[in-house]
Amino acid sequence: MRPEETLKLEKIYKSYKSAQGSLAVLQGVSLTVSRGEMVALLGPSGTGKSTLLHIAGLLDQPDTGALYLLGESCSRATDTMRTQWRRHHIGFVYQFHHLMPELTALENIVLPQRLVGTSVKEAEARAWTLLEQLGLVPRAHHLPSALSGGEQQRIAVARALANTPALLLADEPTGNLDGKTAQALIQDLVTLSKTWHFSALIATHNIEFAHCLDRRVQLQNGVLHNA
Ligand code: ADP
Repeated sequence: MRPEETLKLEKIYKSYKSAQGSLAVLQGVSLTVSRGEMVALLGPSGTGKSTLLHIAGLLDQPDTGALYLLGESCSRATDTMRTQWRRHHIGFVYQFHHLMPELTALENIVLPQRLVGTSVKEAEARAWTLLEQLGLVPRAHHLPSALSGGEQQRIAVARALANTPALLLADEPTGNLDGKTAQALIQDLVTLSKTWHFSALIATHNIEFAHCLDRRVQLQNGVLHNA
């Protein structure tokens, strides 16, 4: 059984330094995402949503503040440990699918599993399960270039979930899709979370999407408010 708190951020501060001076982006962000909870991260462009997702996903370090994943402190983790945490416990979906162009849909879902040592047989079995749940079995052997935008993004979701992560982080996952395709992806994500019980923090401008999730938080002036 996974711990009750999948992600906990405490008083996260992050500034970017440049020749023009220092830009304070996050100024004391605190957030807890519980097991199985899906949270929408709202806020206009440039408010720091991607910065927050990168920190939550151990891709970047805060200046100060504490971060816990599955109840364990990650604040002082080495780069090797952070990579291991990412591979095993965190799935990422971006606005653009970033699938490997020379690999088929199936192979794209198998790859992250092979990176953590899962056997080919087991990895393929899990990939087929995800393809089935996303209605993409007939597309399994297609290259990404032969898939529609919605299909590419659903494969990106399947790839993010390949290692049964505890936490899914998504940055504008429907930003590149038309309304109907976006709605289908949202429904898929919500259904998948009920099956696999992952938590999610999803940055979005899509209000319909935000209202399908359990909770909404808004990033404003460097801190989070309930929305
Ligand atoms: P959002 O995802 O809400 O659009 P971002 O986190 O991408 O916001 O960016 C927040 C602010 O930080 C923006 O003003 C952006 O220009 C700045 N920023 C983001 N990344 C960097 C970086 N690596 N170096 C300097 N400034 C950055």
